[in-house]
Amino acid sequence: MSAIQSYKSVLLVDDDPTQIAILTAYFAGQNVTTIMSAGDPCEALTTLAQHLESTDLVVTDLQMPNMDGVEFLRHLKTLGYDKNMAIVSGVSQGIIDHTVQLAKMHGLNIIGCIRKPLTKNMLDAVFTTKLEEGLSAAPLEDQSLTLEEFTGAMRAGKIIPHYQPKIDLRSGKIMGAEALARWPRDNTAPVSPVVFIDFAEKNGTIEELTFRLFGSVLIDLKGFLAIDPDQKIAVNLSPVMMQNIKLPDQIGQLMQEAGIRPSNISFEVTESSILDLDTNTLEVLSRLRISGFDVAIDDFGTGSANIQTLKNFPYSELKIDQSFIKNVTTDDFSDETVRASIALARQMDMKIVAEGIHNDDILQFVRATGIEQAQGFHLAKPMSAQDFSHLLAHGNGQIDVSSSSSAA
Ligand code: C2E
Ligand code: MG
Ligand code: MG
Repeated sequence: MSAIQSYKSVLLVDDDPTQIAILTAYFAGQNVTTIMSAGDPCEALTTLAQHLESTDLVVTDLQMPNMDGVEFLRHLKTLGYDKNMAIVSGVSQGIIDHTVQLAKMHGLNIIGCIRKPLTKNMLDAVFTTKLEEGLSAAPLEDQSLTLEEFTGAMRAGKIIPHYQPKIDLRSGKIMGAEALARWPRDNTAPVSPVVFIDFAEKNGTIEELTFRLFGSVLIDLKGFLAIDPDQKIAVNLSPVMMQNIKLPDQIGQLMQEAGIRPSNISFEVTESSILDLDTNTLEVLSRLRISGFDVAIDDFGTGSANIQTLKNFPYSELKIDQSFIKNVTTDDFSDETVRASIALARQMDMKIVAEGIHNDDILQFVRATGIEQAQGFHLAKPMSAQDFSHLLAHGNGQIDVSSSSSAA
């Protein structure tokens, strides 16, 4: 049975009568009983308000008079519409992708996106198979890694943490750093952590790698704390790790042995790994939080977390993904995503960190939004433990965040 039979009442929103006609004919042919249409978003909102309960699918264009699609999405949310949505548009795939992210953050259920010109096959692909989305990136190649080379390097201590400073945007103070795995491979180009972390997750060595890295972090952190006792190091936790319900005890023991307090460590879990919290993950995160560790949501905006997801667990920090931050001054959709993320974080009383500060324009923009902390190549790139210690000790623990154009 095709999924389209579950739609009873559809609202089509497009300023182009030809598109409305095509879509009307299509849904009529699929036995949808009520097909409503609107030539502009204001009219659509009025119609939807009158049929909020019965409407179970909204199909909308993104470029329309009076109100663009992004604004329309926000109004849909305000109106309380939380059922299916599909986007039909002539704008670029990148803009469509951003809009989908934003819609998901608003809690809207996007069942698919179709680029004009419409064909029956494209409509069938979305409305009769309920495609979730077309966003996920192709899996990364493993760059010809072998398990032997990888475990050899890991056990020889060749995979080590580097540290990217996290900066307070009001004062410029270095609050701590994110530990990022680095593998300077012998006689070959370095492998991206995205690749070898994925590799380790797939071949069952991620836990060993994480514990080895964590051990190095604790040693390095002792040195950082000798310079500034308030430094906090963020450690990335793979979703696979959160299936191990002994994890909080194992971490607690290592912390005790190192004599380091939980307030000097935070953990980062990706947004995608917390969308559906299973009991193990929830237990692991809860026990880490109860022990006094901060838990941050990483890469926020790339998944479909909304206020409901955030309410499931008391996260301490939200890190807005760099794909939005780096375009925030040039792209309305990134700007909207960042603003929506800030609003969500504020409601949940979470600290916000912006990742991917590439230049001074972005830095000043982000500072003006009131976001508390930032990371980015423009502020400081990931560096060795020695370089980070040096920065803390000799850079006065500060990075200049004032506008580089205002020399005064
Ligand atoms: P992430 O946790 O979101 O880390 C931030 C990434 O953004 C880092 O990439 C960092 O170098 C990069 N970055 C920061 N500022 C900028 C900027 O201004 N421009 C650009 N282009 N990039 C910036 P990196 O080190 O390549 O790590 C990529 C991902 O690999 C990390 O994303 C994280 O998901 C994963 N990863 C790295 N180390 C570990 C680890 O020890 N354990 C786990 N589970 N994952 C790790
Ligand atoms: Mg991270
Ligand atoms: Mg991130």
